[in-house]
Amino acid sequence: MFPARMNWSVEAWIRTRRTRSAGLMPRAERVLLNDSQYESMDKTASFTVGIVGATGAVGQELLRLLEARRFPVGSLRLFASARSAGRKVLFAGQGVSVEEARPGVFAQVDVAFFAAGGPVTRALAPDAVKAGCLVIDKSSALRLDPDVPLVIPEINPEAIRSHKGIIACPNCSTAVALMGLWPLHRRFGLKRYIAATYQSVSGAGAEAVQELEAQVLAHTRGAVLQHKVLPHQIAFNVLPQVDSFGPNGYTGEETKMMHESRKITGLLELPVSVTCVRVPVVRAHSVAIHAEFERPVSVEAAREAVAAFSGAELVDDPSREEYPTPLDFSGKAKCGVGRIRLDTALSNGLAFWVSGDNLWKGAALNALQIAELMIRDGLLRPKAALAAV
Ligand code: NAP
Repeated sequence: MFPARMNWSVEAWIRTRRTRSAGLMPRAERVLLNDSQYESMDKTASFTVGIVGATGAVGQELLRLLEARRFPVGSLRLFASARSAGRKVLFAGQGVSVEEARPGVFAQVDVAFFAAGGPVTRALAPDAVKAGCLVIDKSSALRLDPDVPLVIPEINPEAIRSHKGIIACPNCSTAVALMGLWPLHRRFGLKRYIAATYQSVSGAGAEAVQELEAQVLAHTRGAVLQHKVLPHQIAFNVLPQVDSFGPNGYTGEETKMMHESRKITGLLELPVSVTCVRVPVVRAHSVAIHAEFERPVSVEAAREAVAAFSGAELVDDPSREEYPTPLDFSGKAKCGVGRIRLDTALSNGLAFWVSGDNLWKGAALNALQIAELMIRDGLLRPKAALAAV
């Protein structure tokens, strides 16, 4: 229970809470098997799957999705920091012990999802690759490395073939923004984009969610609001800062969106300017985008292009006040696109809004889709099966 005393400490409350934040659970379960590559996967194969960062916000979603999408898990190895070693985590109704992530643990692992931050990836991914394990990385450590493909399966699936043991997933805001931008690029030819994000606190990890919830409760009790994970109070506030500031005044998140958009789309000179903002939403990021295109645009053609794209769901009916919201797109595989209109300041410009689940398309789901694609295309086989050939 939440401590009743007035000057309670957020830090102590977070430390002592053992269950997942209720706010992290989407309103309704919407995992659909037909979103996955299950039908076209080899069901006789069974993989030893590792998750590094299994106790975190992304790791926990990976566990749910592995089960819901019937990924062929033969055995599961869960890794986190030494703090979590020995803790049991539920998978398919069974408790699986968490192990400390350290060199040598990947010998039997076929595919390891890394969701424990850049330093852990840098320290352990090379060891995993040496052990013949495919690494699918959620951190930003290697995304721009020319030897590491950066993949969104709906956009550049062919890039998986050039991997050298590691495949990276994009930053969560980039992934959500591109699910709106990509179908419009294919239709009209993207020339530049300018955006502002509305990013949920779960993008900063499980502790940031608890911080928001603790602040809301403290506010209702008239207590002092404390912060530790985010740079300022987030409850009843918005912060125009996601990540730290670089010398040009842009934050790391803003710079990531620029570079990662270019690498994934192959538009290597694409002008991009973004302001990233943290908002007091638990789950799912939104992005307001203004994009200029090479060819003439129309709202009707833009809606058609979005509706036909496998990664997006068109929710765009101003007459009924219908548009995507983060609540509606939490726990959804697709990202919602709406508010499509002609931009009044750009030539051949469109303004629109995208909401998508940062923990799914922005992280765990995208990573799992990459593994599913690798299996479907015969590029990932269990080590045991390879040894028997
Ligand atoms: P999180 O909730 O803070 O979880 C961090 C995880 O990493 C925990 O399982 C933690 O284990 C583990 N960890 C920390 N230090 C470790 C160490 N030295 N060795 C092994 N494991 C360690 O963070 P998250 O939001 O899940 O993010 C994980 C990664 O995904 C980050 O790189 C993040 O940038 C990226 N990402 C996140 C999102 C998102 O929306 N949250 C989206 C895209 C990408 P303990 O519990 O033992 O501390």
